[in-house]
Amino acid sequence: MNVPALALDSWQNLLSNTIDDPAELIRLLELPETLIEPARRAANGFPLRVPAPYLARIKKGDLQDPLLRQVLPLGEETQKVPGYISDPLAEAAANPHEGIVHKYNGRVLVILTGACAINCRYCFRRHFPYEDNRLGPQQWQQLIDYLRSDSSIEEVILSGGDPLAVPDARLAKLVAELEAIPHLQRLRIHSRLPVVIPQRVTESLIELLGNSRLKTVLVSHINHANEIDTQVIRSLSRLNQAGVTLLNQAVLLKGINDSVATLKALSERLFEADVLPYYLFVLDPVDGAAHFDIPDADAQKLIGQLQSQLPGYLVPKLAREIPGRPSKTVLPPSLS
Ligand SMILES: *Cc1c(COP(=O)(O)O)cnc(C)c1O
Ligand code: SF4
Repeated sequence: MNVPALALDSWQNLLSNTIDDPAELIRLLELPETLIEPARRAANGFPLRVPAPYLARIKKGDLQDPLLRQVLPLGEETQKVPGYISDPLAEAAANPHEGIVHKYNGRVLVILTGACAINCRYCFRRHFPYEDNRLGPQQWQQLIDYLRSDSSIEEVILSGGDPLAVPDARLAKLVAELEAIPHLQRLRIHSRLPVVIPQRVTESLIELLGNSRLKTVLVSHINHANEIDTQVIRSLSRLNQAGVTLLNQAVLLKGINDSVATLKALSERLFEADVLPYYLFVLDPVDGAAHFDIPDADAQKLIGQLQSQLPGYLVPKLAREIPGRPSKTVLPPSLS
């Protein structure tokens, strides 16, 4: 018999053995079989993908479970809604080279990989042409040259897909090359992996981020307190102890986190994991996600009420991305 190369619960194994079949998900969670057909139809446009550690946090038999609703393809996704388009952030236009998005002063976003550990149904990248954005060796050299030639760039933001889907050895090589560019000060990683597969926070990742010359920031993506179990807390806290600044961005989603109590519980739970709330994004109008939308006025009321219940440092900025603007656009809390 062959000895398996990786432990069964290694992050690589968990990443390559996700649940991708709607029928399997629905049976495992003891949900009505009538959901299978619409789920299959919706998954044609954007596949289902759920890793086992995330699945374990979903309550069986509960169609309203806030984690389930982030991953279960629904018939609603296949309805066309005016104003909901495939590239709502017009990122196709801000690509100076493959895999690079340079829209904001001093910060360059790098799409390291199109791979994700989980497919979030509301994702604004659900139609993104990732095939054209794979960072091969040639593109990587192009990126390094680009960063080197523009001394106004202080921060590199690794994004995706999920940049932590890339193995540690490769990340280490990338970080070493970034460290050699004198004007770079900060390295930021936007990732959902430490949450959906907490095993991803390996010793070598902690060492890499903790020992870099660059100030390192991890922006996790967590939308609901139930996503944070004790293993997630352990993983995030270890990064924090190593000197990584931890921030969170969430998306405001109808039926998932659109109440003051839910948002308050999320902020409090994040803080237990040493994470500060950073942004709460209103939904981008991406085709297939209209059923998650909350009107801006309601969102502003929610954030106003949240502000009246929490210390200022636990209130995220309500924001949206408007193509062509030099930063994210913050929506002020409504205090009425
Ligand atoms: C969101 C985003 C950033 C980061 O914005 P911050 O306000 O610094 O978090 C940078 N570049 C691009 C292209 C972005 O979309
Ligand atoms: S992990 Fe991020 S990029 Fe991937 S599907 Fe979810 S929201 Fe989109």
